[in-house]
Amino acid sequence: MFSLLILPGDGIGPEVMTEVKRVISWFQDKRGLKINIEEGLVGGASYDKHGIPLTEEMLRKALEVDAVLLGAVGGPDYDNLRFDLKPERALLKLRKELDLFANIRPAQCFDALASFSSLKKDIVSGLDIVIVRELTSGIYFGEPRGIHTDGSNERIGINTQRYTESEIRRVAISAFELALKRSKKLCSMEKANVMESGVLWRDVVNEVHADYKEVELSHMYADNGAMQLVRDPKQFDVIVTDNLFGDILSDCAAMLTGSLGMLPSASLGNKKVNGLPRAMYEPVHGSAPDITGQSKANPIACILSFSMALRYSFSDLKNADLLERCIEKVLAKGYRTPDLMMGDNGQLCSTTEMTDKILEELEAI
Ligand code: NAD
Repeated sequence: MFSLLILPGDGIGPEVMTEVKRVISWFQDKRGLKINIEEGLVGGASYDKHGIPLTEEMLRKALEVDAVLLGAVGGPDYDNLRFDLKPERALLKLRKELDLFANIRPAQCFDALASFSSLKKDIVSGLDIVIVRELTSGIYFGEPRGIHTDGSNERIGINTQRYTESEIRRVAISAFELALKRSKKLCSMEKANVMESGVLWRDVVNEVHADYKEVELSHMYADNGAMQLVRDPKQFDVIVTDNLFGDILSDCAAMLTGSLGMLPSASLGNKKVNGLPRAMYEPVHGSAPDITGQSKANPIACILSFSMALRYSFSDLKNADLLERCIEKVLAKGYRTPDLMMGDNGQLCSTTEMTDKILEELEAI
């Protein structure tokens, strides 16, 4: 029996999470999925009840369970709160306390949505790649940092790219493990041509490769990687890169697929005693205050986040594949939430109706 903590959060978070819970119930009832679910407050919802965005009790639960599934946090009601009380602080605290160092972002282009991409249809159609971004170190955390004034009163902005071997090794291991579960192809991106941290990155990734000989490893400079991602993204399967390059490359890859309402993500940490990695799954989108309460939210990003939990936390590839196949079929039949409507193509669905269609497909299998 696996355990999952559901944190719906704010804005459209609870709306899309209601739909995910319907999908989970289906898998429990019809496919014998054994998950024990707990639910809690996070972000603004937690602030409203407890005066803080994440309580110690909720953090303790997040540390105990096999996986956390989070909706979204934030919204205009909380914009003027003190920095440490803002809903987004809950996310940062969860990532830090769970030590979620590997951020996994798939960029998968469902054929039916290929015309949404800013690239030509044949370049993105059928695209299915994953970027593994190091999340807890590198230039966003390295010291020294800050803005200083030198002797001649000139201001100097400083950030430091710093990686230890063990930080590189652990994210490389996550990426190789992921590659093993997919098509056994990994491309590591850095700038070893101009950065010592990149030289070390390449060395350590090569060392880790010795334990994963069945994976085909290649290296690419990150600037070339950016170009290749828009030139011919299907040449990649799994990409591993550092925090800064990963931030940029994963946003770039996200746009290959079209809508924000379609993008899931996972953040993985070290293995716990039971052998499962600590993990948090969440859609890439935020709380979307502009459409909250209007039944317009696309639930697919959050449903796909659950599918990632099936795949990466519960090693239930069969059910993950099944769910993704059904979503693909629903899109192929033309059902669309408003964010996916283009001209008059497609049949407009509310948040709940989109899930109804996915459940119908699951039933039909
Ligand atoms: P957003 O992702 O909430 O919305 C951007 C645009 O995409 C909006 O027009 C929204 O309507 C649309 N959109 C987002 N998700 C959608 C979905 N599932 N279906 C259909 N349309 C969708 O980003 P934002 O507007 O910059 O931020 C709003 C709030 O969310 C802010 O408070 C921000 O801090 C927070 N935020 C939270 C997270 C998170 O919880 N991980 C991430 C980003 C932003």
